[in-house]
Amino acid sequence: MITKIIKVDPDNVIKSENDIKNAAEIIKNGGLVAFPTETVYGLGGDGTNPDAARRIYSAKGRPSDNPLIIHIASPADAERYTYTNETYYKLADRFMPGPLTVVLMARESVPIETRGGLSTVAVRCPSNPVAHRLIELTQRPIAAPSANLSGSPSPTDASHVIADMQGRIDMIIDGGMCDIGLESTIVKLEDDGSMMLLRPGKITVDELACIAPVGIADAVVDKLPEGQVALSPGMKYRHYAPKAPLVLLDGDIDEVIKHISEENNKKIAILCYSDHKEEVARRLPHADVYVLGARNNINEQAHHLFSILRDADKHSYSKIYAPLPSMEGVGLALYNRMIRAAAHTVINLRQGKNG
Ligand code: AMP
Ligand code: MG
Repeated sequence: MITKIIKVDPDNVIKSENDIKNAAEIIKNGGLVAFPTETVYGLGGDGTNPDAARRIYSAKGRPSDNPLIIHIASPADAERYTYTNETYYKLADRFMPGPLTVVLMARESVPIETRGGLSTVAVRCPSNPVAHRLIELTQRPIAAPSANLSGSPSPTDASHVIADMQGRIDMIIDGGMCDIGLESTIVKLEDDGSMMLLRPGKITVDELACIAPVGIADAVVDKLPEGQVALSPGMKYRHYAPKAPLVLLDGDIDEVIKHISEENNKKIAILCYSDHKEEVARRLPHADVYVLGARNNINEQAHHLFSILRDADKHSYSKIYAPLPSMEGVGLALYNRMIRAAAHTVINLRQGKNG
């Protein structure tokens, strides 16, 4: 299959109206289009078409029991596909359009294939102008998981999508780098008006707690025990895994450098904060150094993480080291992605113990 690649300026979407119309036609006809959102690139198909859902699973190599998020142009459109409640509209008023996904009971209008066999469906109203216009012109919900091959990091730039999806889908809309760089916050709404955080993201637990009580699903920070069913099917898969083993180090920069210099690895990569870049490069001259961002700027770190993991995959490192993020605020989202990419390998240098 030939994949058409078009460039769209998110600050001047009107200029690309015809291209976006063509993309909408592809989706209406059952085809697949990758498009930018404020979180990561999505791989979009018609959310009301079971064949489109099957094609998405096949293009990604994703297990078909891992449901797709449906993307809508306006929060009220959720009425057609889900049973909403008061908490949904409170969340919508505060956070939509934006990087929040809400899991609700599904209506029959959403095929079981899109829902991965569940009775619920996840909805999101993206703020990226390209995504928004594409959904409007498609005139139906767009089912879209992240536009990466299953098991590799979510794409935060069109070049990542091209690397994974060229030849597998009909079109890729290149809208530049995604603002946030981590996937949306996902909450499931409970019958009693409370919510359960299934995946942390840019919208934090504290922000959500201003709307209604929030519980945090076990799989967000911990390894699920053998046999336990994940509330969000995606959490049972080892996502975001670089090829080389990733090891998270919990310690100050001195302890980290000392630990790495004592381990006898051939070709290593170190992810570090810009604050420590020079010291790391000077004291570990044989390592490749990747800068996540400033230590106190978690948004900058989030923006770069997946792109760095992809770059690192192009080299045959024997090990990748990274600092263990804090779980505060947006840090929880970074922690969740990194701990899973590391398959929960954390070395606690503060107490000299493995965690
Ligand atoms: P992705 O589409 O790659 O961003 O991943 C979407 C995530 O949302 C996956 O982890 C899914 O398991 C999760 N998800 C989608 N729909 C539901 C749902 N109805 N209930 C719980 N989790 C869901
Ligand atoms: Mg994904």
